[in-house]
This record gives sequence, structure tokens and C-alpha cells, in this order.
Amino acid sequence: MEIFDYAPAPESRSIVTIRPAYDLFIDGEFTEAKSDERIVTLNPADEEPLSEVAAASDADVDRAFAAARRAFERVWSPLPGAERGKYLFRIARIIQERARELAVLESLDNGKPIKETRDIDLPLVAAHFFYHAGWADKLAHAGVGPSPRPLGVAAQVIPWNFPLLMLAWKVAPALATGNTVVLKPAETTPLTALAFAEICQEAELPPGVVNIVTGAGGTGRAVVAHPDADKVAFTGSTGVGKEIARAVAGTSKRLTLELGGKGANIVYDDAAVDQAVEGIVSGIFFNQGHVCCAGSRLLVQESIAEELLTRLRARIERLRLGDPLDKNTDIGAINSAAQLARIRELAAAGEAEGASGWSPACPIPERGYWFPPTVFTGVTQAHRIAREEIFGPVLSVLTFRTPEEAVAKANNTQYGLSAGVWTEKGSRMLWTASRLRAGVVWSNTFNVFDPASPFGGYKESGYGREGGRHGLEAYLG
Ligand code: NAD
Ligand code: MN
Repeated sequence: MEIFDYAPAPESRSIVTIRPAYDLFIDGEFTEAKSDERIVTLNPADEEPLSEVAAASDADVDRAFAAARRAFERVWSPLPGAERGKYLFRIARIIQERARELAVLESLDNGKPIKETRDIDLPLVAAHFFYHAGWADKLAHAGVGPSPRPLGVAAQVIPWNFPLLMLAWKVAPALATGNTVVLKPAETTPLTALAFAEICQEAELPPGVVNIVTGAGGTGRAVVAHPDADKVAFTGSTGVGKEIARAVAGTSKRLTLELGGKGANIVYDDAAVDQAVEGIVSGIFFNQGHVCCAGSRLLVQESIAEELLTRLRARIERLRLGDPLDKNTDIGAINSAAQLARIRELAAAGEAEGASGWSPACPIPERGYWFPPTVFTGVTQAHRIAREEIFGPVLSVLTFRTPEEAVAKANNTQYGLSAGVWTEKGSRMLWTASRLRAGVVWSNTFNVFDPASPFGGYKESGYGREGGRHGLEAYLG
């Protein structure tokens, strides 16, 4: 069969203006950092610098908390919910108006394909603000008592895999419930958070309600350990999450942690195979596999394993890796050199421990950070690639014979964030789902999100829920 090549279809980056350098966003203004340390953020697809941001010092973080406290006491918490809701609606609408610009900016700073930022990240970001805007004047009906109260100032630290979406997950519920925020974006992807600061100005959000301090781990530590933080919300690695849990222990701060995952995607012999193949692909290759709830362990019933894997490989051969701004790209760049090194190290461990890796013939651009989609077979539960989060486009395949074995293998992990089940039989679906120790179980689908649906983990995937009515609870006392 002759295969036609795709013509390049790049999205224009001219819609985005990136300043050469950014200050911190404190008390409604961009203000120079006290420290003169700066962090360069680059485009992982070509390693070219995009801009530089300040690395906020302890003194800068102090200023941000002072502004957030003032805004909480004088302006934001006394404001009627309906009025707070209007600001959130305004922010949601501005995000929609600026969606194309924000999608391009996110793809540039993060490396993820424009197809995803445009069709998934940005619509979900706007939806999250709309959803929480609607809650702002209905908190008495959230199921947490007749007159729930905000906690105060929320310290929020987010990762680089969904920069603006994780910001939305943190900021929207905090603001809807009457809290104010000091947020630190990840050091490799600060630009959409700074664009969000401009959106706060455009929406005339009262100064100090949202403060954004850029920086790396040291700044994050100062934010979560700040004595004036009433609530800490963190998304990122389990290692840092544990450190934060220790730092917060013994204080009156409330804590939610969204950490790593090693999600099982279970395919029974009666599943619709082509649909399951699509779900496996989006489960592990969506966002280059930089997804805490990725379906990184495929558990396939032995009797259909060979057929399924044949179809899966054929499907993966059609994935297009390359320029994140090209509208036909399925797999973009790995976010950083450090993340690429981690993925390579774990993939090498897979080979060394006796599993066997397969990747399609896939041209890799010369510059930038890239890893081809990879499928490991011959994986046992003891292998590192079956136990550790790879956070990259690498799938580990295991097989099972009975539903009991599928559940036992799926639950045999330190994590418990997500799982998927593929079967045509409703009773088997429910039997399986009710036995899986995972915060989210997808039925005949994977990696589908909705602001009304709570998201969170069991075990070392963290605690607390984000989204839905349950997510509000984390910001109310
Ligand atoms: P990380 O946990 O180091 O970084 C996440 C955020 O925490 C960033 O904003 C970072 O600056 C900040 N941070 C770092 N050290 C901190 C500290 N001591 N106190 C407070 N904040 C701190 O994650 P990473 O190094 O970017 O990625 C490492 C691994 O983490 C990945 O391979 C992946 O397994 C996992 N990860 C998971 C998620 C998720 O969504 N659950 C997101 C990113 C990374
Ligand atoms: Mn970047």
C-alpha cells in the first residue's frame, strides 16, 4: 500500500508575544524580585531559550504571602460568593478568547503537541474556571455544612506536565471558595502561569488574590513551608510529596498531594479490540506519557495478547513524532533534558532486566529532547519498568489469565491513581472496578477528564481530591 506523506501544517507562533524576561506577580503587579537569580526557560523541541524568569527568594515569597493575606482579609473572603463567581466567569471567558495564544505558548514552553494544547488542555482549563465559577455562590450546598468557610491563604506548587491545567485545578477551587493564592509554577514551564497573571489583571481581579512566584525547588520549599500558609496543595513527584508531608506534619496546615502513578490498563478477551488499541495509545502516548494517571502498565488477557499487540504495533507505527506546533503531530518533545535522562535510564533498565523493547522506525529530530514511543514485552512484576513511574512514552505489557489475576496484578503497585478496564460485559466491568485500588477507573476509555469528576489517589499517589464537589472540600473548613 502506498503511503502518502503529510505536508507540514505548522501553527503560527506569531500570535504569541513572549517578553525577554518576566518579574514576579505579587499584589496585582509584575514586580522585580529581590533576588537577582534568573532561570532560563527553553523550548524543548529545539533547545532555544524562550525567556527568563526570576527565581523568587524567601523575601519575595514573604511579600507574596503578605499580599495574599491582606487580600484574603480585606477583599476576597468578605466578598459575597456571587461576586467572586463573576470574577471567575470573567477569567474563564478571557481564557477562551485567548485560547489559541495560550495553546501555542504552552506547546512552545512544554513541548506538547498543539493538537493537545488546543483541543484538550485549553478547553479543560476554561471548563475548570466555568465549573468553579458556578459553585462560588452555592457552597452551602456542597455537602460540607450549611456555612462553609474558606481556610485562608493557599500555597500551591505545580508540575510541568500540564502547566496551565494544573494551575486551573489549583486556582479555580481556591478562589471559588474564598481563599487567596500563592502559586509556584514549575521551573521549565512558567510562561502560561505568567500569561495567567496578565489575565488576572485583565479581569480586574483584586490585587493579592492571586500571586505567582517563579523559581525552582528552593522557591517551592519556601512556599509550602511558609508560616502564613493555611493550606498546601502540591502536584508532582512522590519524593517531593513525601518531603512536603514531613514539612507540614505538626502544623495546622491542611494538605492535599497529587503524586505519581503506575496505572493499569486491563483488556479482557471480550473487549472491542480496535477501541482498546486506541485507549492504550491515548493512555500511554498522550502528552508523551508525562501523565501521572497514564496507563503505563498494559494488562492483557493471554488469549488475545498476540492479536492485540499486533494491532497495537501497527497503530503505533502511524503515530507522528516531531514539531509540537505541527497540527499533525501526535508525539511532541520530552519536556527537559533531565526528564529525558530519567526515561532513558528506566528504558535501559527494562532491557537489562530481560524485557524486550520495541519502537517503530521513527525519525528523531536532530535538536531537542525526544523519545520514540516504546512498548516493552516480556515484562514481569518485579521489573523496574513495571513498578516505577517512567513518566514518558513507554508502555510495559503484562498478561493475565483470570479476572482475579488481573486485579491482583493491577493492585500490585505502590501507587493507586488510575486504571482502565476494557470489556463488553457490564457485570465484569463492575466486578473489576470495585476491586481496583485506584482513584479513577475508566470504563472502555482512558485519560478522559471533567471538572465535575473528582480526581486523586490511593497509597503513594497521594491524598485529597481535586475537581467536583469533593475538590471544594479541600479548601473549606
Ligand atoms: P518535582 O516533584 O521535582 O517537581 C514538581 C514541582 O515541585 C515543581 O514546581 C518543582 O519546582 C517543585 N519542587 C521541587 N522540589 C521541591 C521541594 N523540595 N519543595 C517544594 N517544591 C518543590 O517533579 P520533577 O522533578 O519535575 O519530575 C520528577 C518525577 O516526578 C517525574 O519523572 C514523574 O515521575 C513525577 N511527576 C509527577 C507529576 C504528577 O502529575 N503527578 C508531575 C510531574 C512529575
Ligand atoms: Mn520550557
